[in-house]
Amino acid sequence: MPRREFLKTGAGLAAVVAAGPFPVVSVLQAAEPAPGRKTIGIQVGAVSFVDEGTEKVLDLLQERGAIDTIYLTTFTYGRGLAGRQIPGHPFPDHGAQESDEKFFHGGNYAMPHPEFYRDTVLKQTRAPDHGDLDIVAQVLPAAKKRGMRVFCSLEDVFRADVPGVKNVAEVDLQGRRTGTLCLCHPDVRAFWIGLATDLCKSYDIDGILFFNERNGPLLNALGASHAQSIASSRVTCFCEHHQRAAKERGVDFGRARQGYQKLDQFIQAALKGQRPSDGYFVEFWRLLVEWPEIIAWDRLFDTAKHQVLAEVNAAVKRVRPGLQVGFHIEHVNSFNPIFRATRSYADLATKADFLKVVVYNNCGGERYANFVRNVGSTVFRDVPKEELLRFNNYLLNYGDEAKFDDLATAGLSADYVFRETQRALAGVQGKCRVLPGIDIGIPTGKDSRKASPEDTYAAVAAALKAGADGLILSRKYSEMQLANLAAAGRAVREAAKG
Ligand SMILES: [Zn+2]
Repeated sequence: MPRREFLKTGAGLAAVVAAGPFPVVSVLQAAEPAPGRKTIGIQVGAVSFVDEGTEKVLDLLQERGAIDTIYLTTFTYGRGLAGRQIPGHPFPDHGAQESDEKFFHGGNYAMPHPEFYRDTVLKQTRAPDHGDLDIVAQVLPAAKKRGMRVFCSLEDVFRADVPGVKNVAEVDLQGRRTGTLCLCHPDVRAFWIGLATDLCKSYDIDGILFFNERNGPLLNALGASHAQSIASSRVTCFCEHHQRAAKERGVDFGRARQGYQKLDQFIQAALKGQRPSDGYFVEFWRLLVEWPEIIAWDRLFDTAKHQVLAEVNAAVKRVRPGLQVGFHIEHVNSFNPIFRATRSYADLATKADFLKVVVYNNCGGERYANFVRNVGSTVFRDVPKEELLRFNNYLLNYGDEAKFDDLATAGLSADYVFRETQRALAGVQGKCRVLPGIDIGIPTGKDSRKASPEDTYAAVAAALKAGADGLILSRKYSEMQLANLAAAGRAVREAAKG
């Protein structure tokens, strides 16, 4: 009988109570880590258990990586968290050595129960990749037997051909439907609530880790995240639900759209090197002064995104207060000061039990360089890239990192991991736990940094030394070399010895 069912029955509860106060506490709070105990987690997708065998993977994770918590990719259509190594990159030294392009699809790798999806048009999301396999049902009992915790990872990455997506898709600046989901849409909100509730009620998991890396229209217009192209004419969302939400807040839809059209013109001219007479930055700032609706509309996106986070958290707690909810805090939070300003750790701490703060330092060099390149080709086009990088290093409290031309090859340092972990800890003020996300083998460009075992050791040691409540090895086991996993485990064990 699952723990929850056991507690619901009077006999079960009486038996627990009769055993004295201590067992009651330990049973009810089983999902919460003991005070001071570090969480050593790893993100794993279904395909790894299928390819290598559940027991064998768990053996490896425990023995090599000192792992005690599995963040099991349960919902996504993205290849960042699910699937084998992404095509075009070498396979690690375990698992199948051929691409899964032929069968990779994505979706819900657990078994969806229809009653939780009544209020949403997104009813058919079951992943077909592995036939009838329910990955949560398979991994959970094996992990529990070993005393490992299991969280379901849910990611807001969809594909355009999922039934219902067209009905709830965002609308861009030109009025076109996109392939991304509108976070203001009632069906989308109902989907995330339904999915989180379904997983927490249907399986005896320890909680949810929620991923949403999507940015608002201002950052997308500037291409101000790492992997983005500059897409100022395709920014979102201008749908009817966003228009209604704007009206409630007194934000003028017409002026917001005009403001973004002006911004689009500015960006496109800047990319062609057509310098405004007052300079690029002044012209950009003037746009924000004359069209404050640009900021207001960007804020609207964030408000909807954070509302979904809060709703997922509330839904999980309604199932059982002891279940834990964590949010993945995307990389752009680390290297974009404009984005940082829109994310307050103190505020996020009120919506989650833990934050997985991305501090990927190896791929971080390439990503940070790309951010500098993008903003350096528009808003900060008057500033030489090297000086723009130095300036940003000061704004972000980075230490002595590589020069612009060397940044992708060098990566960011373990000191960066230490500083960003400390910033998160100072921000949450003890109100939630901070689990830095450590990058092992995240694919990068041909000449960009690839983490050596020494790099992984240094990053893990830096996060723990900074006082982190644990860490999460990322992005997925199916792209990690075993030597790096072992280096992480060694750093964890040595830190525990003190
Ligand atoms: Zn919308």
